[in-house]
Amino acid sequence: VAKQKKDAIQFHDKSMTEKAMLRRQMVLELRKAIADSQLTVVYQPKYDLHSLAVSGIEVLVRWKHATKGFISPDVFIPLAEDHGLTSAISKLVVAKAAEELGQAGILGQPLQHVSLNVSAAEFNNADEMTALTNFIHQHQQLSPFIRIEITETATLTDMRKSMEIIANLQASGITFSIDDFGTGYTSLAMLKDLTVDEIKIDRSFVAELEHDARSRTIINAIIAMAKSFDIHVVAEGVETANQLNILQQLGCHQAQGYYLGRPMPISELVEHIAQDKRA
Ligand code: C2E
Ligand code: CA
Ligand code: CA
Ligand code: CA
Repeated sequence: VAKQKKDAIQFHDKSMTEKAMLRRQMVLELRKAIADSQLTVVYQPKYDLHSLAVSGIEVLVRWKHATKGFISPDVFIPLAEDHGLTSAISKLVVAKAAEELGQAGILGQPLQHVSLNVSAAEFNNADEMTALTNFIHQHQQLSPFIRIEITETATLTDMRKSMEIIANLQASGITFSIDDFGTGYTSLAMLKDLTVDEIKIDRSFVAELEHDARSRTIINAIIAMAKSFDIHVVAEGVETANQLNILQQLGCHQAQGYYLGRPMPISELVEHIAQDKRA
């Protein structure tokens, strides 16, 4: 990194130094946003494909920036990973979700699972994961429902260490899900070696479901395999009724996506669930 910086200066690469400055500025603002609680959360419902009722939610972080509007986690989570800010963000997310979901009175009924995203940097740090687990258990209303989602590629660095971290989570009652399943190179090895409670089929497969027989075959095989291991299967990125129908026919357990419900603030989630019950 130091050499890159030097090169950039030597060759008067203005765009490089400008980019680095913008990044530094953004890190400063992110630190301030964390300190001032400018981060908030939204909730995306997960539907049971048998009953078509909301049975869980995924918590997604949002940064409401004073002048730039909402900044996507795809932009600031990588930044947070590089600057050791992910555990602070996780704690904010847990505290916020505990407060809002507790007040709304929807934990347990109908919500069976509350899924949190944990980034690779945090997951691979055993001390940070222990701290996060303890923090989650300080929220007794919420903790029985917590499920942690890790992107498939995140667990790769050290399989044995990952196994240990997952075992510790599960021993404390937290369930474990592999996000973006099928996009990494080790999907099968992971199923062989890790005790996973859930997998989420990446939305790239779901997007091709209607028009590509091979995607359908792959999803079918993932579902069959997961079932034989007693692993719960969630399809993400469902955007059409047709995709939903096919997933139901294939025996997928749960689905999530814009067609069923977008990420929304707590007030809308409560309404969404109430409407769902009337239907
Ligand atoms: P992800 O965990 O794979 O989350 C799914 C992303 O897809 C979300 O974007 C969601 O809004 C979007 N999405 C949901 N349904 C649909 C659909 O039907 N079609 C399409 N095209 N997109 C859909 P979001 O909220 O911008 O989050 C992006 C990523 O940022 C997440 O990907 C996750 O990896 C990360 N992230 C979000 N919240 C957190 C957090 O609290 N902590 C950490 N460490 N990472 C987070
Ligand atoms: Ca996720
Ligand atoms: Ca995903
Ligand atoms: Ca993702």
